[in-house]
Amino acid sequence: TELHGNGSHRLVRAPRGTDRSCKGWGQEAALRMLMNNLDPEVAERPEELVVYGGTGKAARSWPAFDAIVRELRRLENDETLLIQSGKPVGVFRTHERAPRVLLANSVLVPKWATWEHFRELERKGLTMYGQMTAGSWIYIGTQGILQGTYETFAEAARRHNGGTLRGTLTLTAGLGGMGGAQPLAVTMNDGVVIAVEADRARIERRIQTRYCDALAESLDEALALAGEAAAAGRPLAVGLLGNAAEIYPELARRGAKPDFVTDQTSAHDPLNGYIPAGFAPDEAAALRANDPDRYVRLAKAGMAAQVRAMLDFRKAGSVVFDYGNNIRQAAFDEGVTDAFDIPGFVPAYIRPLFCEGKGPFRWAALSGDPDDIRKTDELVVSLFPENGRLRRWIEMARERVAFQGLPARICWLGYGERERFGLALNDLVKRGELRAPVVIGRDHLDCGSVASPNRETEAMKDGSDAVGDWAILNALVNASAGASWVSVHHGGGVGMGYSLHAGMVVVADGTDDAADRLRRVLTTDPGMGIIRHADAGYDEAIESAGEHGVRIPMRD
Ligand code: NAD
Repeated sequence: TELHGNGSHRLVRAPRGTDRSCKGWGQEAALRMLMNNLDPEVAERPEELVVYGGTGKAARSWPAFDAIVRELRRLENDETLLIQSGKPVGVFRTHERAPRVLLANSVLVPKWATWEHFRELERKGLTMYGQMTAGSWIYIGTQGILQGTYETFAEAARRHNGGTLRGTLTLTAGLGGMGGAQPLAVTMNDGVVIAVEADRARIERRIQTRYCDALAESLDEALALAGEAAAAGRPLAVGLLGNAAEIYPELARRGAKPDFVTDQTSAHDPLNGYIPAGFAPDEAAALRANDPDRYVRLAKAGMAAQVRAMLDFRKAGSVVFDYGNNIRQAAFDEGVTDAFDIPGFVPAYIRPLFCEGKGPFRWAALSGDPDDIRKTDELVVSLFPENGRLRRWIEMARERVAFQGLPARICWLGYGERERFGLALNDLVKRGELRAPVVIGRDHLDCGSVASPNRETEAMKDGSDAVGDWAILNALVNASAGASWVSVHHGGGVGMGYSLHAGMVVVADGTDDAADRLRRVLTTDPGMGIIRHADAGYDEAIESAGEHGVRIPMRD
């Protein structure tokens, strides 16, 4: 580990290799993944401990970060460290098969669950925004969302354009930690995309990491580049320097009709995530500091203008969908009463996958050796030879994804597949074919781990969108099953008051104990997706339960 200087100018990077500074691989993995979240290659603003998604942080403060590192190094193999919104608050003797770390981030009592109250608490140093994988230490850079974004655009292409985006134009905005996956996801589907981004540095970062191809300084330049590529059937990703609250309405005024329209600015957080029309990023920062109330008003007005334009595109015949940042809600609150005519991406494209326990499964090589991931790529393809989509994804990822921080891979796997692959990974470690253990985790945006009525649980068949019990049960059962660390969060993706969600990570260190944990956790976790969707009445989930022998008491 290199820690230079102090306060805001320090550099954090996860240790590599097999030498541990902790007493077990569970603790060591947590330590490395916490540090990896703050690696400058990985985090959007590491000096402020911000990993991605507006102000999604890995630890509450630098002293809290130091204390977490210290405690993880001291932690025995039968102890559990408790983290309360990014700060270590206790260590208890539990037992060897219990999680080594339990985390609760940004959770507020429902009546108080607003950004206003959250910010008051944050100012007093009492809480932190954990987003999804920032505060739960399993963010792996933009790749973490890439396959989900790729699958979403692939599904949109299948439904609306004969299975390809070739020759089509997609309009989107936001090239942040997650939104930055959009340009590559579109070009991987052979399409052309204009992604509006207000911050030049973000566009340049995506170009550097090969997620985006070109930067355009003006709308006309972007349209010319995009038009030419689309006409030639050539994939192209253009980052357009501009503000979505201005560009979308301008395009609508011109009567443009992009084939697909969405948005991934950090609209879930009107103070920190969305730049009002007419402001450069540094001017926005000044306004945010000097007059936060005015900032929020202007940001919301901008979102309303952007959503109105999205509704115009929809009327003109574009395929428009919300991409999970709660922008419809902000516009609705501003009086755009038809904002929810725009469908959310989960009910539109993702839910059938959730019904089979499928979701964004990911793993990272603690060795730091890209060759370890190469071997795991070969393993996953060989385990599921019948899965052509998976093979295509892995081939593309190997060719086009630049690793950020510890080498990692993501691929959507379902119930049964996750357990099989997890055990096979553990075997590779056991046989010494990988240079060090592997951590296995997932996004909180998964089949059975989240309640989020404007996103993952939008328009559930039985109306159970806002039932939060499932996310809590997910965390409880994964802790009982022996995950290495388990987290419960509030407000990820869509902001305060709008979601509850849980995460888990389990370490494959090649031991028999790890095999037991993997077998249990990689069954309970996707199993929650099946029972949650079966309970809501989805036939695909009920069939999955039958096929896999998942016991659902009142359906037996
Ligand atoms: P981020 O904060 O890292 O990036 C947001 C980007 O939007 C920044 O680069 C910012 O400069 C830009 N931006 C803000 N206002 C703008 C405007 N008016 N015009 C143009 N650009 C503007 O966030 P992120 O990690 O990329 O996440 C983006 C959003 O997507 C969040 O709301 C997050 O919760 C949500 N999200 C969705 C999914 C999904 O699968 N759909 C997954 C993760 C996150």
